[in-house]
Amino acid sequence: MTDIVWFKRDLRVNDHEPLYLASKKNKIIPLYIIENDFWKQPDVSDRHYNFLVESLNDLSSSLQNLGQELIIRVGDAEKIFTKLIEEHSIQNIWSHEETWNNWTYERDMRCRRLFSKKNVRWNEIHVNGVFRGLNDRKSWARMFYKEMNKIPFGRPEKLDIINIKSENIPSADDLSIRSIECPYRQFGGEKEAHSLIDSFLTSRSYDYSKNISSPLYSHETCSRLSTYLAFGNISLKQVFYITKVATDNAKNNKDSNNILNFRSINAFKSRLRWRSHFIQKLEDQPNIESQNLHDAYNDIRQAHFNEEFYVAWRDGKTGFPLIDACMRSLIQTGWINFRMRAMLVSFASNNLWLDWRKFAHHLSNIFTDYEPGIHYSQIQMQSGTTGINTIRIYNPVKQSYDQDKDGVFIKKWVGELEDCPIEYLHEPWKHETKKFTYTSRIVDENETRKKASSQLYSIKSKIRNSETTKKILKKHVS
Ligand SMILES: Cc1cc2nc3c(=O)[nH]c(=O)nc-3n(C[C@H](O)[C@H](O)[C@H](O)COP(=O)(O)OP(=O)(O)OC[C@H]3O[C@@H](n4cnc5c(N)ncnc54)[C@H](O)[C@@H]3O)c2cc1C
Repeated sequence: MTDIVWFKRDLRVNDHEPLYLASKKNKIIPLYIIENDFWKQPDVSDRHYNFLVESLNDLSSSLQNLGQELIIRVGDAEKIFTKLIEEHSIQNIWSHEETWNNWTYERDMRCRRLFSKKNVRWNEIHVNGVFRGLNDRKSWARMFYKEMNKIPFGRPEKLDIINIKSENIPSADDLSIRSIECPYRQFGGEKEAHSLIDSFLTSRSYDYSKNISSPLYSHETCSRLSTYLAFGNISLKQVFYITKVATDNAKNNKDSNNILNFRSINAFKSRLRWRSHFIQKLEDQPNIESQNLHDAYNDIRQAHFNEEFYVAWRDGKTGFPLIDACMRSLIQTGWINFRMRAMLVSFASNNLWLDWRKFAHHLSNIFTDYEPGIHYSQIQMQSGTTGINTIRIYNPVKQSYDQDKDGVFIKKWVGELEDCPIEYLHEPWKHETKKFTYTSRIVDENETRKKASSQLYSIKSKIRNSETTKKILKKHVS
């Protein structure tokens, strides 16, 4: 008998439960489907696709070493499954549960109907501490840690060879995928993921907490695992496990090379948990991808979309040096730290008063680590539309002084300010002669912040004890 292992956002051979279990029972076809329609969606771009291709090549070579290379199919998942099920008399399909965008959710529903019609069993296994069918969050934390404390699965010992040919992987151009050049993007694959966690735990993590918000240093001292977790080049359980082994070794002084800063490691582990906490929100309420979590905010920004403000923000030309440096750096590297992401969203939502639903895709296109569960939850938090979180409006001028005091990051990315004296770099509009060619600021930060704050707080005070707020708290707070 032959089963299919359907790889989705779990592009690895280690700690892959469906691969491990299926390969113990039967021959398997390790399958990845490149779905043309998925790559036409507005939230993805070629940086995601190119990272995917690197991950697929790495996965295929690891599978080949075990005996059977990865089988690529290009096209519509239902049609591809229909053909494979008939040609290979398939009775079992194995995969992880996927919590991704609305498109993948609907595709899974269609595949479920197909499998049931064909009497094929779909063995879907939960992963990364996200659970299907929860009514509330009462047991979530316990379930999460129970899973994360397990020992990861190893890779299968061997795969039997199957008589089936793989298709070639098309290029991003072949599929006409939205292109936004990213010269400094991370390179995909399971090996890269392991090399990153190793370098993080042996040296880079020491100043993790100290530098976490610095746009200049966090590139080096944050783990940079987000894209590898998003594509499943490494599982969350593996990251917990590898971190635990390193921590135990450091505590017992077994590994003299391994000098860990425990404050940094604890802060890192909290964030790993946040990852699943946010993805669980999307699993429990898929419409947060396109609707405000609290409907009391539905009418505040819709009518005010200012295209000129949006374009200035999108292109890093707002006249606020740190905002523009962050956006330009993000476009070129595919990554920026948490605080700078929050500040970019807060500026767009609060100072420019733009509806997040109209700018969220620009960010999803340029974050190589785009993960819908975290992305939309965070964007809504920073836009103040959840009704349950503290309203936080970042001041881009204060952030500039705090996080890039010497202006090194700003000067690196905003060439127009190269000759700007440091005393004016954070607020160039104060320079009397303004000799440099940098754009004028598009809004007054102080005025726009006060206006946004008063509107958001006035709604918040009205809904504090409403039934909707209570329901949101019950559903999403653990
Ligand atoms: C508006 C906004 C949008 C975001 N969109 C995404 C996204 O699409 N994909 C994404 O992975 N992260 C997103 N984040 C969260 C966070 O900024 C990134 O996870 C982090 O910067 C990734 O860098 P790192 O891997 O070096 O993280 P580290 O600081 O080393 O943390 C380790 C891991 O923990 C998780 N993590 C860290 N911070 C958070 C957080 N605040 N919430 C949830 N999980 C977290 C990530 O998986 C990360 O890889 C977003 C944050 C904001 C404010």
